[in-house]
Amino acid sequence: MSRYRLSPTPAQEQVLAEHCGHARFVWNLAVEQHACWKPGRKNAPGFAEQCRQLIEARAESGWLRAGSIVVQQQALKDFAQAMANFFGRTHRRPVWRRRGRGEGFRIVAVKPGDVRRLSRRVGEVRVPKVGWVRFRWSRAVPGGVRSYRVTRDRAGRWHVAFAAVPEPVPAPGTGEAVGVDRGVAVSAALSTGELLHVPGLREAEKARLLRLQRRLARAGRGSKRRGRVKAAVARLKAREADRRKDWIEKISTGLARGFDVIAVEDLKVSGMTRSARGTLAEPGGGVRQKAGLNRGVLAAGWGRLVTRLEHKAPGRVRRIDPRYTSQTCNACGHRAAESRESQSRFRCVACGHRDNADVNAAKNVRDTAAGHAVDARGGDRVAGPVNREPQRDLLLVG
Ligand SMILES: [Zn+2]
Repeated sequence: MSRYRLSPTPAQEQVLAEHCGHARFVWNLAVEQHACWKPGRKNAPGFAEQCRQLIEARAESGWLRAGSIVVQQQALKDFAQAMANFFGRTHRRPVWRRRGRGEGFRIVAVKPGDVRRLSRRVGEVRVPKVGWVRFRWSRAVPGGVRSYRVTRDRAGRWHVAFAAVPEPVPAPGTGEAVGVDRGVAVSAALSTGELLHVPGLREAEKARLLRLQRRLARAGRGSKRRGRVKAAVARLKAREADRRKDWIEKISTGLARGFDVIAVEDLKVSGMTRSARGTLAEPGGGVRQKAGLNRGVLAAGWGRLVTRLEHKAPGRVRRIDPRYTSQTCNACGHRAAESRESQSRFRCVACGHRDNADVNAAKNVRDTAAGHAVDARGGDRVAGPVNREPQRDLLLVG
C-alpha cells in the first residue's frame, strides 16, 4: 500500500480531526444499530437505509451538517464492508471506535487533478473542506488514484494512503470461460483443474510469530519490551499480508489475461448469510459445513481477489450463486450431498464420476456462467425432483 506522511498546517489539522470525529460518530451509530439487532427481528438497516438516516441526522444536527457528506457516507460504506467481512468470517465484528485510536476517514471520487507534485520531495492532495494538504513525496504516487484514506496514529502523526484502480487487462478473445471456486482443501480451484494455494508465512516465520506472541503475553503492560515485541509481530503479519496481496495481483492478472469470462461465486452478504444460515422457517442445510468452508477460504482474501478481477476484467466477471455447486455432479448433474466424499474428493453417487471436489465445483461455476443449467444436461431426470432443483438454485446472479 502506498502510504505517505501528511504534513497539515495546525488549522488544517483541526478540520482533519473534525472529519475523523464525524466518521467515528457515524461508524459508532451504525455499530449501535447492529448491536440492537437480534435474529428473528426485522433486519438491521442496510447501507441505503443508513444513508437516508444520515441525511435526516444532518438536517437535525448543525455539527454533522457542517462536516463533509463524503466523509460521513464513506464511514457508512466502510461499516457495510466491515459487516460483509464479518459475515465472510475473515474479520471480527466491527466494534465501537474510541477517540484517538485508529482514527481516519476515506475520500472517494478523487479526480486526476486532486493529487499533484510540488517539488521533488513534496506533494499535495485536495481534501474536502480542508483544501490542499502537503505530504512527503517519498515514492511515486500510483496513477489512477480513485480514493484515499487519511489516518492519524496514536502518536498524532497523519498519513494518507492512495488506492488506485489497475488498468483493465485485454481479453484473449478465445471465448473461453473459467470457473473459480473457493476451495476447502485449497485456497482456490480452477475449472481447468489447477489448484491454487495462497502463500502465507514460512514454517520458520510461523514459529517465530508463535514465540513472539508468547513473549508478548508475558511482557508487562506498557513496558518498553512489550512495544518492541508488538512491533515485531506487526512486521511479520504485514509480511504475510503483503505476500497474499502479491499473490492476488498475480492470479487476477493471469485469469484476466487467459480467459474471456471469469465465473466466481457471488459473495454478496445477503446471499452468503442466506446460503449458510437458511431462513428462520427453513434453516439452511449443511449449515456447519458451509460455515466452515466460508471461514477457511475467505481468510485467503477471496473478496479482494474478486474485486481485483472486476478491475482488471471489467464486464467479464460473472458472479454465480454458489449454492449446491459443491454437491452437484458436473458430469451428469445429479445433486447429492453424499457425492462429496471428503473435503477433497467428489464421487457422484449416480454416475460414478470422480473429480477433485473443488475442481468439480469450479466446473459447475463455469458452466452456470455459460448459461448451462447444470442438471439439464443430465440423463437421470427420472430420478425425480431432487435433480431439478439445481436448475433453480444455480441461477446466474450477476
Ligand atoms: Zn454424476
